[in-house]
Amino acid sequence: MTAPSETGAGGGTAFSAGYGDWEPDEFVANGEAVLAFLSDYFTGIRDLPVSPTVDAKTLSAKIDTEVPQVGEEFTAILKDTQSLIVPYLTHWNHPRFHAYFSNTGSLPGVLADTVSSALNVNAMLWKSAPAASALEKTVLRWMADMLGIASGSDGVLVNGAALATLYALTAARETVVGLDVRERGLTGYGRRLRLYTSDQAHNSVDKAAIVLGIGLENVVHVPADDGYSMRGAALAAAIEADLAAGHQPFAVVATVGTTAVAADDEIDAIADVCRLHSLWLHVDAAYGGFWRVAGGGAEAAADLSRADSVVANPHKVLYAPMEVTALYCRHRDALPNVFRLVPEYLRTSPDDDVVDYMNYSPQLGRSFRALKLWWIIRSFGVQGLARRLRRSIDMARWLRSAAGSDPDWQVPVDSAYPLVCLRYVPRDLRRRYGSEPVPLARIASLNADILDAVNASGSAFLSHAVLRDGYVLRVSIGNIRTEPSDIETLWTQLRTSAAQVWDGQWAHQ
Ligand code: PLP
Repeated sequence: MTAPSETGAGGGTAFSAGYGDWEPDEFVANGEAVLAFLSDYFTGIRDLPVSPTVDAKTLSAKIDTEVPQVGEEFTAILKDTQSLIVPYLTHWNHPRFHAYFSNTGSLPGVLADTVSSALNVNAMLWKSAPAASALEKTVLRWMADMLGIASGSDGVLVNGAALATLYALTAARETVVGLDVRERGLTGYGRRLRLYTSDQAHNSVDKAAIVLGIGLENVVHVPADDGYSMRGAALAAAIEADLAAGHQPFAVVATVGTTAVAADDEIDAIADVCRLHSLWLHVDAAYGGFWRVAGGGAEAAADLSRADSVVANPHKVLYAPMEVTALYCRHRDALPNVFRLVPEYLRTSPDDDVVDYMNYSPQLGRSFRALKLWWIIRSFGVQGLARRLRRSIDMARWLRSAAGSDPDWQVPVDSAYPLVCLRYVPRDLRRRYGSEPVPLARIASLNADILDAVNASGSAFLSHAVLRDGYVLRVSIGNIRTEPSDIETLWTQLRTSAAQVWDGQWAHQ
């Protein structure tokens, strides 16, 4: 008779049939089916619509079933994944996905994530995952070299740049003499703590201020210059005004590769201002950091070695699948001094060469993120990565030049990175206003319609930004499979959608 514990909920007698996990031969067969599915997915990705046209209610009706009480066959689960999930995704892997900062997982990264899931180690302590911790140290050193970060900096892999910035600013807050939030909490320190960043900075800076009890009111958004770059002089003026008002400046967040237009702040001058006022400089190089690997001008990018802390995103630029971000801190032990809190059950014997990564952020249980970086960097080599990145920069140059030389399009801002901001302002529209400028609201509304039309076409997927001189369509080129022919297709699609939108409604208004 079968023991009760071996009788599956589905009534089967095989352990795996009853409880959902697989026997080794099932694992191999299912694994082969998954690999075949993924291989077809990647091979056929160009033929998929980049983004689905499905409303939330319809999609929920398809997906939102009751919780299964009885285990199901994997073939059914995989089939549903193919028919209910994949068609209703926006495909970040698509070569014509150009929204936000486009990124793709490379195939070595995809398989490395599978292996790290399989190994399922928890890289919280050196002892709990020795090789994972050792590898984290190594890939952080490799990437520090790629970024030009001071050797000997502390580093840690975290899940994203937004949280990395929060952790860095937590360490920065701890440097304010007499505050000691770690021990005493927010106990009514007499002065307002002030945090400086540009009006172009990512809102993760504001979110960090919310979490840290700085308050949104105390985030000073220094106006960027005409090229969307925060200048040292403007920062210095803001700090001096605050000092005169009796406030307590404590940190500055500068950006390398801003979200809207991929501009760089004036890092050297900002670092000088920070040094003068003894302020912590955190550089958000989430996007811009790794492009310097490409060479060809990108290496002239801002010097990151002067920052107190830096964040850079392999999952935005280095073809690493989500989620992996590198956080560096020049001051040895500044991060552990805030976050180290070791309960008895996690106590291990001290050893100089050991790094317990749980001490570098509030996260305890940590996945083995280093493996995919090891696989990717070894598979491509730095030179291979550089060649790939340069291709994206070249494709962006081509698009910028094509749009810039078309009299119906404007490219209002340049970037060293492969992010092209452009807008349609046709001659017919400009003629209507004669010598007057076309109202920004009209340009915004026309281009928003074009964005919708391009995205609805399924041929490409873009996002937008609103700059000082109006609305732009953003084309981020960073996907590993994007070819020059994709950019030509995109440019054709942009002009076709623009003409359709214009002829369909706008020409008659
Ligand atoms: N910093 C910048 C400049 C960004 O553009 C973004 C997101 O696009 C972030 C930070 C947040 O990145 P993450 O999604 O890794 O948290």
